[in-house]
Amino acid sequence: MKKKSLFLVALLALALSSGGLAAKVFITIGSGSMTGVYYPVSSGIAKMINTYLAKDGIRANARSTGGSAFNVKAIANGQLQAALAQNDVTYFAYNGLTQTFEGRPVKAIRGIGTLYPEFLHILARPGSGIKTLADLKGKKVYVGDIGSGVEQTTKRVFEAAGLTFGDLAQAVRGKAGQAVELLQDGKIDAMFYVVGAGSAAMQQATEIAKAYFVPLPLDIIQKLINKYPYYTQVIIPAGTYKGQDLSVPTVGVKATFIISKDIPDEVVYKIAKLLFVDKVDEFKAIHPALGTFFSVKKALDGLTIPLHPGAAKLYNELGIEIPDLAKPVK
Ligand code: GLU
Repeated sequence: MKKKSLFLVALLALALSSGGLAAKVFITIGSGSMTGVYYPVSSGIAKMINTYLAKDGIRANARSTGGSAFNVKAIANGQLQAALAQNDVTYFAYNGLTQTFEGRPVKAIRGIGTLYPEFLHILARPGSGIKTLADLKGKKVYVGDIGSGVEQTTKRVFEAAGLTFGDLAQAVRGKAGQAVELLQDGKIDAMFYVVGAGSAAMQQATEIAKAYFVPLPLDIIQKLINKYPYYTQVIIPAGTYKGQDLSVPTVGVKATFIISKDIPDEVVYKIAKLLFVDKVDEFKAIHPALGTFFSVKKALDGLTIPLHPGAAKLYNELGIEIPDLAKPVK
């Protein structure tokens, strides 16, 4: 090759590597099952990123997954770059706690912010005879998908109630939508689901399968909060679902938007500013769970892992105080 054409090839390579022609960053956002709230929220976030940040070389898509525990691990191994995850699971993962993460802490995850509360829904099949947690013994119970946050929280609730999955006739796993169908067909007796209020799966369970809520006793809620301070006492207000006449006391966590530590600061800053400030009304319109609860001023409440420095920059600019647990780590 002549000297001149060699020079041109080098120039082209430089243009490509500096991102002149190609997208610089592609972010796959891990969510949960299609009938949950993570999936529509993650899809909405990806759409906003593609609409407003493609000009900056940032593109995204959403992927349906088993849920929080899968998501944090998949960020660590590079299958995902961002995700929604429960704040109890992010805490267990980052600190290497519980059977799932013991000896395998997940240090690659960073916080962007908490988005909305998730409620533990305990639903039982009409005719199952289940009134209390103790009645679950010998029953077939859906305890969450493989890799879900649902299973993590459900295990903690069982422990607090002095029960184990071994006390059940069967601990059933799979997609939440399939669990609702099993409930409807009388093939399982109850289901546990940690999800934002108003998910499609819970609407179907209450409206079509006519499942009823089992309240979580206050002493169990208190035990959980004493042991794990990021659990909160919450109420699923009466009327959240058709035919639900009573408010339901239960335990709550926060849905958190998390990202890999390897995503550059300016990319995370742009994403956080787009969603939480510049287009916050559009962001909140993605789903009623966000619309009801999201506010950037509360987005550090319940964050249990360090912030990504790119997100921390935004909170600093807004004058929002960063709690110790959320202090950014590179
Ligand atoms: N909180 C659930 C989990 O981590 C997912 C809920 C949803 O998909 O909205 O397993």
